[in-house]
Amino acid sequence: MTSFSPVHPLGLRARVLLSSVFGPYAQDDEYGSRTVNPMELYHNQVTRVQGGFSLRMFHRSFGLMMIQSNIDAPCTLLDFPSLDRFTSEIRDNTYDIVGISSILPNIGKVREMCRLVRKHQPGATIVVGGHIAGKKDLSGLIDADYICRGEGVRWFRRFLGQQEKDPIRHPLVHSGFGARVFGVTLPLRPGNTAAMLIPSVGCPVGCNFCSTSALFGGKGKAVHFYDTGDKLFEVMENIERNLQVKSFFVMDENFLLHRKRALRLLELMEENRKSWALFVFSSARVLRSYTLEELAGLGISWVWMGLEGENNTYEKLRNVDTVDLVKTLQSHGIRVLGSSIIGLENHTPENMDRVIDYAVSHDTDFHQFMLYTPIPGTPLYEEHRKAGTLHSEDVFPLADTHGQYRFNYRHRHIDGGREEAYLLDAFRRDFEVNGPSLARLIRTFLKGWKRYKDHPNRRIRERFAREVRPLRTVYAGAVWAMRKWYAEDRRMREKMDALLRDLYHAFGFLTRIAAPVTGRYLYRTLKNEEKRLARGWTWEPESVCDKNDAAVALEAAASTRIVLARPHVSIKRAGFSS
Ligand code: SF4
Repeated sequence: MTSFSPVHPLGLRARVLLSSVFGPYAQDDEYGSRTVNPMELYHNQVTRVQGGFSLRMFHRSFGLMMIQSNIDAPCTLLDFPSLDRFTSEIRDNTYDIVGISSILPNIGKVREMCRLVRKHQPGATIVVGGHIAGKKDLSGLIDADYICRGEGVRWFRRFLGQQEKDPIRHPLVHSGFGARVFGVTLPLRPGNTAAMLIPSVGCPVGCNFCSTSALFGGKGKAVHFYDTGDKLFEVMENIERNLQVKSFFVMDENFLLHRKRALRLLELMEENRKSWALFVFSSARVLRSYTLEELAGLGISWVWMGLEGENNTYEKLRNVDTVDLVKTLQSHGIRVLGSSIIGLENHTPENMDRVIDYAVSHDTDFHQFMLYTPIPGTPLYEEHRKAGTLHSEDVFPLADTHGQYRFNYRHRHIDGGREEAYLLDAFRRDFEVNGPSLARLIRTFLKGWKRYKDHPNRRIRERFAREVRPLRTVYAGAVWAMRKWYAEDRRMREKMDALLRDLYHAFGFLTRIAAPVTGRYLYRTLKNEEKRLARGWTWEPESVCDKNDAAVALEAAASTRIVLARPHVSIKRAGFSS
């Protein structure tokens, strides 16, 4: 067992299967699935307590898609298989390499998948990667041949004897699927979902708890797939053409940090009149280093930003008044997802109310709360390991180290078990004080449109006009339904009233007609969704199987061989059909 990868003897003739771990996910089972840890980014850790208002959505395993798009060997990708689906894939087909990607809480599933591969494909090489690879003793816990630590595209290219530095081919994929809110599943239509864009992985800022930064080298390090604005622009144009999108979910931990690339992209967008919208992750100081005109020009319309907590010591937040920053961004139509930590070193039972109040006071459009969790590979984990404060895995199963349940270590001020209540309190107070995220998001959209609808730059005007379109009908209906929902809650009803009045004022007669019609329908679907949730209903992603061109060609060649080897079958069929 080694983390160094030699070349597979079959090279590009090796048949590769890549798979995410098996579901279902939102249940408690012996493999480590947890009800509180569904395969949904928002419902898991952002809109967790928002019931029928919660944004439900799944995201493909982009790392595996990136690998599949960049290797020339025949490659099949299974995303979100059931255990049966994974088993039949390896029982009924032949593979030389099986790659499994996972986070650490799913280690029980990885162990089971390795066992099944050994049973059904004894000749296959097993490669395990993803965040789980941060665990140094992983090789002793699962039966894999190689652990791929860090970036997987180049690892696989080396392993298959391919040129690892060849240009990166970007997969064509929407950022999410299975979106659902108010009990309505939203169809995936061209133009209504952003495309995924992955310019780089890792983040050089290197915060002590950040497993993504640690996975790709930590402080000072990042891997750039597209290191110039020109290369990135070319990729985006290609995605725009093929998926018919104008918005991009930029899956780069700190996209704006690469200033030269971002500003060159801005130039090219300007030259080519692209009214694209970009949804980005950015740290606060980096964001503040851009002018609002630059952010508007770049189409930054949504940002995921770490707020962490009051009086934190993170350099990325030094001298930044985040309450003021959030307000400014929202006044320019930029929706903000703020991320706060529960359980920082200075958090105590005595100051927890203040900690939560501070987070809630940001009134972000979305708010993520996570427990301060040392994840293997991070500096925070090392600190706890050295101090001997980590819980042993017998006491605290790895399946529970997802940051939405308990500390996996002894906190210096908070006794074990109390943290879950604090976390839920934070989610609830944010929801109670600031209301459903959908209403906040609509409010920010409206502010942006009012400010920019007459902007002299046509492509900026166009973006806001495009983004605001659903506010005239569907979103106005959602606000109407929310106002009815909060009929007994005076403060929230007044909030919804004010928002609805603003929408009517901005968009006029047709919106006044559309809102109650759509609103009545959405109110009904919302009520039904609440009933489903009360019965314990969960939302699971559908399994997906993708083959690259080489795998399709291999399959076609194999079926031709079968037909040639059994001429009587084809002759008989031909006879029937004529
Ligand atoms: S700034 Fe954000 S992405 Fe970068 S290391 Fe810190 S937490 Fe991670």
